[in-house]
Amino acid sequence: MTDGDRPPDDRTMETVGVYPSITEASIVRGRLDQAGIRSWMQEELTAGQLFQVGTALGGVKLQVADSDLQRARELIANEPSKETTGAAWTCPRCGSDVDAGFEICWSCQAMRVDQPD
Ligand SMILES: [Zn+2]
Repeated sequence: MTDGDRPPDDRTMETVGVYPSITEASIVRGRLDQAGIRSWMQEELTAGQLFQVGTALGGVKLQVADSDLQRARELIANEPSKETTGAAWTCPRCGSDVDAGFEICWSCQAMRVDQPD
């Protein structure tokens, strides 16, 4: 965090989402940035608690000025989900279970094919 990441005091901040890690919050923040919406990340835990439990148990709040809240929410809601590639699949060639998001079998490098229901 740099000084530039601090929310201005003269604005009301609203939370648009809570993310499990700074990484995920940063991704959404980048999208907002591209749309010209300034946002700030705020960790749920205090620095002292972070030392003991790490960020895994906390959450990262992404906040925007209340004047940007509606636009930010729409932007996030309209973002295509990462799940568009579907659920986990079974490789037709070797039968391995492959996690969703992978287009190639980790075992035999066969390309994913759309399987009929
Ligand atoms: Zn395979």
